Amino acid sequence: MTVAQDLAAVRERVAAARHLAVLTGAGVSAESGVPTFRDAQTGLWARFRPEELATEAAFRAHPQRVWDWYAFRRERVAEAQPNAGHLALAGFARRHPDRLTLITQNVDGLHQRAGSTGVLALHGQLFENAWLDAPQPCCDLERERVGSPSACAGCGNLRRPAVVWFGEALPLKTLAAAQQAARACDVLLVVGTSGQVYPAAGLAQTAQDAGAHVVVVNTAPTALDAVADVVLRGSAALILPELLSFK
Ligand SMILES: [Zn+2]
Repeated sequence: MTVAQDLAAVRERVAAARHLAVLTGAGVSAESGVPTFRDAQTGLWARFRPEELATEAAFRAHPQRVWDWYAFRRERVAEAQPNAGHLALAGFARRHPDRLTLITQNVDGLHQRAGSTGVLALHGQLFENAWLDAPQPCCDLERERVGSPSACAGCGNLRRPAVVWFGEALPLKTLAAAQQAARACDVLLVVGTSGQVYPAAGLAQTAQDAGAHVVVVNTAPTALDAVADVVLRGSAALILPELLSFK
């Protein structure tokens, strides 16, 4: 089949699907110019290993350094804008309520800024904070804060970025909801992810085992191409509007 025929066939499947699940990865953000973790490690950050910037142990040992790294990344990401791929997903969900579950490995919040709601953010959210330790009765993320990184004025509990660091488990409820969507969908689109990192691979297999049509959308070959029913080679910003913009 030609690329155009593949596209048309997938569009028909999407249009007929009672439920669509979409998993997005770094490729979708890269098309908006969001630097990857490693790409952002420039200048004074280049001398650190990732585990010195993105682990709980690193934060406990050097809270200021890790906080500053995330402040730097937040600044870089804030400059990026959602692209046509993000917008196509948000637009589809608006026109077809309750038909799309959007799962993302990206922490940059671009799906949310594009207007998507209920996004299952498997790796957390860069622009949100959480408590480092279990919150005490005094802890309130909105209340009085001291120091940098800021801490609870009552007990000293540190605020940390609400992202999943190396060595941390994915948020259980979010992962469970993603797996449920993979089991329940008729079509799963896997977009802009290499498919080497769990849970991308697992969700594709789960969806396929449950009878869904699995479609990979990516500019380069991925580890999931062999599992996919169809592989659409190209950018998310070009292909997602083609797949999702029907009436
Ligand atoms: Zn407290």
